[in-house]
Amino acid sequence: MCAIVGVFGTSDSARISYYSLFAMQHRGQEASGISVSDGHILTKVKKKGLVTEVFTETALSHLQGHCAIGHNRYSTAGKKSTVDAQPIHASYKLGEIAVVHNGNLINKDEVRNALIEEGAIFQSTMDTENIIHLIARSHQEHLRDRIIEAMNIIKGAYCLLIQSRHKMFAIRDKYGVRPLSLGKLPDGGYIVASETCAFDLVGAEFIRDIQPGEMIIFDNEKEHYESVQLFEPEPRICAFEFIYFARPDSVIEGRSVYAARKEMGRALARESAIDADLVIPVPDSGVSAALGYAEESHIPFEMGIVRNHYVGRTFIEPTQAKRDMKVKLKLSPISALLKDKKIVVVDDSIVRGTTARRIIKILKDAGAKEVHMRIAAPPIKHPEKYGIDTPSYEELISANKNVEEVRTYIKADSLHFLSIDALKKSIGENREYSLVSFDGDYFIK
Ligand code: AMP
Repeated sequence: MCAIVGVFGTSDSARISYYSLFAMQHRGQEASGISVSDGHILTKVKKKGLVTEVFTETALSHLQGHCAIGHNRYSTAGKKSTVDAQPIHASYKLGEIAVVHNGNLINKDEVRNALIEEGAIFQSTMDTENIIHLIARSHQEHLRDRIIEAMNIIKGAYCLLIQSRHKMFAIRDKYGVRPLSLGKLPDGGYIVASETCAFDLVGAEFIRDIQPGEMIIFDNEKEHYESVQLFEPEPRICAFEFIYFARPDSVIEGRSVYAARKEMGRALARESAIDADLVIPVPDSGVSAALGYAEESHIPFEMGIVRNHYVGRTFIEPTQAKRDMKVKLKLSPISALLKDKKIVVVDDSIVRGTTARRIIKILKDAGAKEVHMRIAAPPIKHPEKYGIDTPSYEELISANKNVEEVRTYIKADSLHFLSIDALKKSIGENREYSLVSFDGDYFIK
């Protein structure tokens, strides 16, 4: 999924980017990087690790300039190595550039092979490098035209920030699959970020979302940014941003993520009413939906499971045995609350089924009489290819089992997934969504 941030027209651009990346740490924990321009040279710091580990005070003191672009990496395409951290830098005919990218290019292999045929040398496995090559090899005189040419070659779901010594370009694909918003900093500079939670932390005022297919150009010599509509918009924001990725305090395309999640919980309660003593969330992913479920069903909400915050995300662990142990380390039940009770437990999604199976075992071991699992998303039946790290068909439990078989596997007394219709209604009915994980409609051709 990844997070990107761009800051333009302020002397403290690196520190503002650093805070923004910190606010968006949930979108990627593998590596982090910032590139800064002072109008003469581009300087970068990028490394594996969390934002606070990568940017020490010394590292930040090296990053001086009026424009910064930054990135948190969550690997999707590309292998896990330090080389794959972003921003990527290059020197080419017109000078230096740096690029950060969030999403996935669907024709990356085709473009890469064609470039290699022509003699290009690649240093990483990232599709982002394609963009640099396309810009460098273009025969257009100006950077903006080279970028436009490159954008006409790449296909996929992407948000991009491109930095030169004097300019910054922010681009969103014509479907707007990943969110990207524009804000104004208190001192008059601008900020572009994957999520609005970054704006809140740095005191920026939300201006608007960058439109699908739009390129915004920030230029040292111009007071205002320029907007160029590169492609006719065909908006398909990713529903998974609302279900899982985005932080609840972010607002995407005018819709509060928290409010959308609560509404999903309410809809879930309407679709799958059951007589129970308590509604509990899987912390933290199911909290907002569980609150909605409890409100709608009038069943008391309790934090029946306590989360240990010092354990990282379970999803990233490579083997099943390690994932199982990590869930156990991460979550523990409040037995006094659960004993002999009929429990509704709410989570945002089931991917492999590990978390749900483990949670239900924890609850039953703690004395729960019945455990009814409610999932605030439809079954994930297809791998996502537009920037989410969901596993292949073999590993996706709902690609291989129907709801009853999943229920048996996770050992729940009942199981219900939110319908696609209710999901769409909960986020907002007046637009199209990217729902590939649920309906397999790979619309980017
Ligand atoms: P699983 O245990 O494999 O069924 O995964 C389900 C859990 O992973 C849920 O608690 C979700 O909150 C979380 N989850 C869903 N999608 C993702 C993702 N793409 N990356 C990391 N975690 C996820």
